[in-house]
Amino acid sequence: MSLPSLTLPTFDDVAAAAHRLKGMAHRTPVLRSTSADEMLGAQFFFKAENLQRTGAFKFRGAFNTLAQFTDDQRERGVLAFSAGNHAQAIALSARLLDMPAVIVMPEDAPASKMAATREYGAQVVTYNRYTEDREAISRQLALERGMTLVPPFDHPHVIAGQGTAALELLDDVPDLDYLFVCVGGGGLLAGSLLAAKARAPHCKVIGVEPEAGDDGAQSLRAGHIVRIPTPHTIADGAQTQALGDLTFPIIRDHAESLISVRDDQLVQALRFFAERMKIVVEPTGALGFAGAQVFAGAEGNGKQLHGERVGILISGGNVDLGRYARFLAD
Ligand SMILES: *Cc1c(COP(=O)(O)O)cnc(C)c1O
Repeated sequence: MSLPSLTLPTFDDVAAAAHRLKGMAHRTPVLRSTSADEMLGAQFFFKAENLQRTGAFKFRGAFNTLAQFTDDQRERGVLAFSAGNHAQAIALSARLLDMPAVIVMPEDAPASKMAATREYGAQVVTYNRYTEDREAISRQLALERGMTLVPPFDHPHVIAGQGTAALELLDDVPDLDYLFVCVGGGGLLAGSLLAAKARAPHCKVIGVEPEAGDDGAQSLRAGHIVRIPTPHTIADGAQTQALGDLTFPIIRDHAESLISVRDDQLVQALRFFAERMKIVVEPTGALGFAGAQVFAGAEGNGKQLHGERVGILISGGNVDLGRYARFLAD
């Protein structure tokens, strides 16, 4: 198992990732909504990564990382632990690059996620999340089989790959005033910041966390990475406990600010996406738009974004349909 290098990625890495992803990742559309524009008096541009392969932006970072494996790494394959979008992203990337993949998942992970991961051709190894340590299991497996462990956010190639979504958005809409991006471990935000810094230095990039998991904002205030217990929130893609050693300094140096939203505000955003824009978005994927709404009202009378051109990164659309129906019905 090779440890990720601690070199911070740069804009050149994002540009190189975009090149690698050409023809592999979808160039997702930028959606408009008159309802959103009228609601907040701004012009909104939604980058729809819920329509990305595997249903989330994570395919970008996974493919960019696996595509840079050495021949030896390729032959032995990749290992990841995840019950979420990273698992499917690694599984599909491995299949496209013709290498073995093992995904370590809790045995009580949603059956649909396990099935999807297996359908992409990965071997799923399960563990008991209450009695076993997934990191120890993964490390053991990686050692035994010589596989390379790829983490979900704290890796320079993963961060660079995630940055290609914002890069595409800024290529399509170069003069954004704001960009709102959801934050879990900060890979998507860090990559977006690298893209924005080079392509739209005047664009203010704001990270959005679930209120129960605002460890990122706490870390910025403290000046070092703050670790919290696993937060209780419907935004399951952002239930991370801490930013990473690579994502934190990039976010600290370049983000305009980190804000947070409550779960009920996420549900409102899910309904807006379903009813007005006709798109399925998972709770974590709605953080950006919910954050823009909170931000618009934060100072004064909801006019904070008046007249501004605002980019929103919709990060994913993978949600169990029964759960989704309950969010819409409640
Ligand atoms: C992983 C994920 C996030 C969080 O991304 P980080 O790079 O960990 O900050 C947000 N939304 C979705 C849909 C995800 O899968």
